[in-house]
Amino acid sequence: MKLELGYGFRCVRCGKCCISPPTVTKKDIQNIAGYLNISFKDFIKKYCRYFNGKRGEIKKVNGKCVFFKDNGCSIYKVRPIICRFRPYSIQFKNNELVITYDKWFLENCKGLFKGELIDEDSLRYYKLVLKYLGVEKAQY
Ligand code: SF4
Ligand code: SF4
Repeated sequence: MKLELGYGFRCVRCGKCCISPPTVTKKDIQNIAGYLNISFKDFIKKYCRYFNGKRGEIKKVNGKCVFFKDNGCSIYKVRPIICRFRPYSIQFKNNELVITYDKWFLENCKGLFKGELIDEDSLRYYKLVLKYLGVEKAQY
């Protein structure tokens, strides 16, 4: 895996990227369901577009992620891992898995070019999540 993380980033919580509801892992669901004080099963029923036993996707309502409320993320403290790592995304370049900036974020994210580079611990966790999601396995 190659990392292309040349710019600083600090999320300014503008909510622009929340037009794209995230993929969620089981761990994400456990965290958010715990925070909302509802069961895993109820969370899937109420907030997921689908869940296949390993991962799912959060529902979209009125063009935004269902958790986007009052101009911000209503579950920010426990937001899914995919949201935590925005504006970084996983792409394949020349058959190599690369964590880099999504073109959309380069053009729309106000948090880019501010703050610090992502830290190593977070990256290690992200790699584990990628493995869990099967992204790496599917390509190699
Ligand atoms: S677009 Fe960028 S700054 Fe705005 S909420 Fe998303 S990651 Fe944060
Ligand atoms: S979980 Fe929060 S940060 Fe992630 S897309 Fe939904 S509203 Fe935005």
